[in-house]
Amino acid sequence: QQPFLSVKDLKVHFSTEDGIVKAVDGLSFDLVKGQTLGIVGESGSGKSVTNLTILGLHDRDRTAIEGEILLDGKDLLTASERELERLRGNKMSMIFQDALASLSPYHTIGTQIGETYRKHTGCSKAEARKRAVEMLRRVGIPQPDMRVDDYPHQFSGGMRQRAMIAMALVCDPELLIADEPTTALDVTVQAQIMDLLKDLQQEFGTAIIFITHDLGVIADIADDVLVMYGGRCVERGTKKQVLGDPQHPYTLGLLNSMPSLKGSVDVPLTPIPGSPPSLLNPPSGCRFHPRCAFADKVAGNLCSSERPLLEVVEGRGSACHLTETQKQELFADFAATR
Ligand code: SF4
Ligand code: MG
Repeated sequence: QQPFLSVKDLKVHFSTEDGIVKAVDGLSFDLVKGQTLGIVGESGSGKSVTNLTILGLHDRDRTAIEGEILLDGKDLLTASERELERLRGNKMSMIFQDALASLSPYHTIGTQIGETYRKHTGCSKAEARKRAVEMLRRVGIPQPDMRVDDYPHQFSGGMRQRAMIAMALVCDPELLIADEPTTALDVTVQAQIMDLLKDLQQEFGTAIIFITHDLGVIADIADDVLVMYGGRCVERGTKKQVLGDPQHPYTLGLLNSMPSLKGSVDVPLTPIPGSPPSLLNPPSGCRFHPRCAFADKVAGNLCSSERPLLEVVEGRGSACHLTETQKQELFADFAATR
């Protein structure tokens, strides 16, 4: 299957008062329709910036971008603001962590969903309202024909999140970018929203990029996984490969710092020491080296002097100087406890 979205060697650097921030530094991935790519990493790993860039929502004056972002064959990086606006909402749309920030308090839920639809289809107000009711029903809002006239503050947090999903999907976008959409919700509502997204994906064949810091969420929803650290991809593969057989010390660290994904084994949690790197002045060589437990296993200080390259074969790869044999030995404890 042809990729619907293809990102090639993307670099996003922006200028701040303190210097150039290399937020994304050479990222490539493909996504086909109906599939979910999970992008995981700590805050500041470049995952949100990547997606704002795909949507064309970055500050163009302050940002230097290299590479290619092809959506259905069209290069988004050379598209005009007008073209991007037409694509946003229609071909690609986004849901965020904070529904309140993307819904206006001054207009009813129905008006907001309907207006998005009207903008892209040019339909009548009556049709737009009908469509809004239908979308609210689809995302599981009870009595949608009544609730359509409510304002956002009359909805619970979970319902607002559903309304935002309804708004994002009202034009049947082929690409949905979900940036930590369930982080602020309690576990039950979180599970409901995830199920909803999976159902809608089944129904519409949407390609989804799901951004999160939570590997449990990745385990639930992703087909493929991309692990980001310091603006770079450090590991990628299918969900099964990355979560079941991690090949990068950072991924291993993430897995060891969260409750067992299987939930059956009582593994002690060990957080990764230190904090994410500054992208103003990133560490030399492997950007993870100041925090890596295995950096001293690689001869000749290679970890701090030379960037490990990401070599991808059939969608699987990791960027680390350790040899296969070393990884097998060093990561054995992980395998034993899972
Ligand atoms: Fe750790 Fe070195 Fe591998 Fe980086 S390259 S993850 S520092 S072992
Ligand atoms: Mg973010």
